[in-house]
Amino acid sequence: LAQLYGPLNSLGYIYRSINQSLVDTERLLQLLHEPTDINDKPNAPDLIVTDGEIEFENVNFTYDGRQAALKGVSFKVPKGGSVALVGESGAGKSTILRLLYRFYDLKEGDGRILVDGQDIRDVKQASLRKAIGVVPQDSVLFNASVAYNIGYGKFGATQEELEEAAKAAQMHDRILTFPEGYETKVGERGIRLSGGEKQRVAIARTLLKNPPILLLDEATSALDTSTERDIQKALQNLVQGRSSLSIAHRLSTIASADLILVLKDGQIVEQGTHKQLLEQNGIFATMWADQITAAEEHIDVSNKEAVV
Ligand code: ATP
Repeated sequence: LAQLYGPLNSLGYIYRSINQSLVDTERLLQLLHEPTDINDKPNAPDLIVTDGEIEFENVNFTYDGRQAALKGVSFKVPKGGSVALVGESGAGKSTILRLLYRFYDLKEGDGRILVDGQDIRDVKQASLRKAIGVVPQDSVLFNASVAYNIGYGKFGATQEELEEAAKAAQMHDRILTFPEGYETKVGERGIRLSGGEKQRVAIARTLLKNPPILLLDEATSALDTSTERDIQKALQNLVQGRSSLSIAHRLSTIASADLILVLKDGQIVEQGTHKQLLEQNGIFATMWADQITAAEEHIDVSNKEAVV
């Protein structure tokens, strides 16, 4: 029996690895909406991550060869820095994340994307993707236990590690209220989790995976205030010490980003911290004022409803 254990265990590992990459891909395709047909160069080396520094160097990109999706985009995410992308629909935010994840390769002469100084076209895509954690808007969970769903972040994680990740993701206390705690099944055949809870499970999984680089796509739908607060706290814990690129739909959530890039028609039209951008009194300041007005109108409406 003991002799069988080794091979069976490795088979299990292989199965899990394949399954994991399928699920990761599935989740990513949801976020990034694209198939991937990028091939590694022969004998491409693995990416060597030292700091997790990202650089876009004068990047031009078109999907169809006619309309430019990105035009001359340059920016840097320093080690552990947070960069937020804002802009109206179609401005090019997701394209930036897709390119960093290497769903497409840039053509010669259309700029470069570097991670710790290495052109991402020259390294194995698997090694690049291993270094990147993704938290999409709508996290997909397995029809399995909560422990399994979190544990996918790291093969062989201990219960202690699971709990530590769930705590940092603001999900531990909630899990303890489930009928069988960490062993409770979630999904179609188990208990249903809210969007915010699913996202926190995904954050816990990513915390376990411990990637140096993060891609975040903030949920567009409004969440209730306490869920929102929990998610913000979980994201803060996740982003801490990692280089992150996030798409922000609600401007209030990116006030603390090190750098905000405002995109319009594929170009960076403004950049700076929240404070600097408000002082510039340009596009960002207008977007900010519009969101505040919209929020106030919303409060107004809910107050009226409450009175009625
Ligand atoms: P949203 O906030 O709506 O997600 P976005 O800022 O992320 O928008 P992108 O998805 O990056 O915008 O799109 C940038 C441009 O590229 C848009 O003009 C879009 O129509 C175009 N585009 C995006 N995906 C494709 C595709 N698969 N094929 C052709 N054009 C595309």
